[in-house]
Amino acid sequence: MTALPLVFSPPKGAKKPPRHLADLDIDGRRAAVADLGLPAFRANQLSKHYFERFTRDPAELTDLPAGDRQRLADEFFPKLLTDVRDQTCDAGLTRKTLWRLFDGALVESVLMRYPDRTTLCISSQAGCGMACPFCATGQQGLTRNLSTAEIVDQVVVAARVMRDGEIEGGPGRLSNIVFMGMGEPLANYNRVLAAVRRITEPGPGGLGISQRGVTVSTVGLVPGIERLTAEKMQVRLALSLHTPDDELRDTLVPINNRFKVDEVLDAAWGYAKSTGRRVSIEYALIRDVNDQPWRADLLAKQLRRRGDFPWVHVNLIPLNPTPGSKWDASPKPVEREFVRRLIAGGITTTVRDTRGREIDGACGQLAALEDK
Ligand code: SAH
Repeated sequence: MTALPLVFSPPKGAKKPPRHLADLDIDGRRAAVADLGLPAFRANQLSKHYFERFTRDPAELTDLPAGDRQRLADEFFPKLLTDVRDQTCDAGLTRKTLWRLFDGALVESVLMRYPDRTTLCISSQAGCGMACPFCATGQQGLTRNLSTAEIVDQVVVAARVMRDGEIEGGPGRLSNIVFMGMGEPLANYNRVLAAVRRITEPGPGGLGISQRGVTVSTVGLVPGIERLTAEKMQVRLALSLHTPDDELRDTLVPINNRFKVDEVLDAAWGYAKSTGRRVSIEYALIRDVNDQPWRADLLAKQLRRRGDFPWVHVNLIPLNPTPGSKWDASPKPVEREFVRRLIAGGITTTVRDTRGREIDGACGQLAALEDK
């Protein structure tokens, strides 16, 4: 057993991100407004500005008393994310943004437009403590948890970018959110869950994105999966499995030393049974490491023996080699054989597209270096 921290506690005396409207639920916002000696309905007005009009500019708060605008903006809309750099690729349909947080920590988010949907990949932590050796973020270690509002603000900014047509293809709507940027979302459980509620609650409480359009991706923190199951939400769960056997998974996903393949698959199956939502098994195919035909067969067997109804699908990710890594993606014929065996074993299987590759915005490449 290793001593990987499940929940990160900041060093004593570390400063917290400033409180923001998006940290609070509606009742909390009303109370905070009342604390300033203002009527509680001002909370709704502020919420509409932020979650429905995507503005936090005091000059635009025109339904609030002129004398209060600046004070309210200072109080509820402190600047959380500073845009350090935007990079675009895939003919303008993918945009990666590097953000600097109030304390200098760096995180990234990636916006990807598809014909039928637009997905934002967001970060839940600066860095990550899970230490998966094939992942660029995992090599950095954990800096800190993001606050709820630091997570939500990534989404609000992207929703505004889409509305204003700043991404190729004209104005549109942000429809999907995936917690597949930096960090392990279930290691920052309370803030991530509050962020999911803000993202999915209808306005003016939140952004009103469908729960079914939100994916929480995890290395497999079993207690976190069980807590998420108990929330009775309709969000999608993605489990980064990467191999069906403990021996290899102990090295690829070090937290496997604490939560074994069987336990995480049982937890994932429990999530599917309880929510009726198909779980997504993420599997980065690494040449000569986890791409052998027997592993495809074992994976299919492990998934099938838990349930016959289509409770799960496998999403293969061609490995994105990280700088200095000895690993590479599997050759296409090997990938095809892996897919063929899973499908023959009765498992729905897809291969992830590789959006954002040339700007280091693809899966597992987010390292948030400022001087690359
Ligand atoms: N910590 C969470 C979410 C962040 S990573 C998790 O592990 O699920 C999002 C996905 O990208 C995970 O499935 C992760 O295993 C995968 N990934 C990480 N590094 C990768 C790489 N170099 N190539 C392909 N996928 C990678």
